[in-house]
Amino acid sequence: MNWLSHLLLGLLLLVPPATARSGTRVLLIDGFTVDGKPTSLWLDILRRRLDPPEYDSAAQIIHVETVAERQWADTIRTHAVRWPAEVPALLGPFDPLPAPDSVLVVIGNRGGEDAFTHDSLTIGLDLSALLRVYGAADSGDNPGKIDRFFRHEVAHTLQKRWLARHPFVAHSPLDLALLDIWLEGLGNYYSLGPKWQPVDGKPSAASNEALARLTPLFVDRLEALACADSASAGPLLKGLSSGPFDHKWGAVSAALWIDQEMQRSPDALRSFVRVGPAGVWSLAERHLAPDQAARLEAARRHASNCR
Ligand SMILES: [Zn+2]
Repeated sequence: MNWLSHLLLGLLLLVPPATARSGTRVLLIDGFTVDGKPTSLWLDILRRRLDPPEYDSAAQIIHVETVAERQWADTIRTHAVRWPAEVPALLGPFDPLPAPDSVLVVIGNRGGEDAFTHDSLTIGLDLSALLRVYGAADSGDNPGKIDRFFRHEVAHTLQKRWLARHPFVAHSPLDLALLDIWLEGLGNYYSLGPKWQPVDGKPSAASNEALARLTPLFVDRLEALACADSASAGPLLKGLSSGPFDHKWGAVSAALWIDQEMQRSPDALRSFVRVGPAGVWSLAERHLAPDQAARLEAARRHASNCR
């Protein structure tokens, strides 16, 4: 290779190709000051997430970043260099949604959850919650987790923008469940870590075990929600996308089904996004045993009669 070829190759390597395609910048913003006070942006975020007494309590805390929190922040900063290059793949299923100019990642240290979506451009990471829930930044799979959290939350920002163009009006608790499964099934698909990945093209033992446990609950809950009113729906919606990861009966069932379909067809995610929350029915029915699929179909018909 001559000097000109070396120069051209060097110039090519300097250009992050995916960044160039999407043009989306990922901006990291501190949610607290060096003397331990929350910034006005972090307070705006907390005001939307917390009830007034919780907000007042979190807002008054003076909490200077600890060494362990600094390690999480450093891990985030190191990994964030690669995040702009991930945006085109995350955007793909939402085509023709245009790429956002920027994604804001606000890093706070009180009152939030480990990772969350604030609005259609902004995600939050709370160092204190990351440390509390997952331990030290460098332990186990934590460095990989931070990339998965980014994908999960950016997917939610894109879902918000997609829903602004394709509004979904929830008329019932069942509709709310379908919306939440659509939202969190996609989000949790991006959260699936190594133990959920297929082995030799087949679902992993963890996936099989989780689906065997979650699928009956998925059918029971949607069946019971078919004509539920808001008073009776609360307990039925519980655990859909909250609690331990492998207990999320709605979010993780859908995530694992999407993952199985993505192994066979790279368009599966795009199809799931395009159909919107109603696509949860057909996603489930493609993966359920015939008797479970028949119960779900009956629940769907039952729901359309009680509205
Ligand atoms: Zn989520």
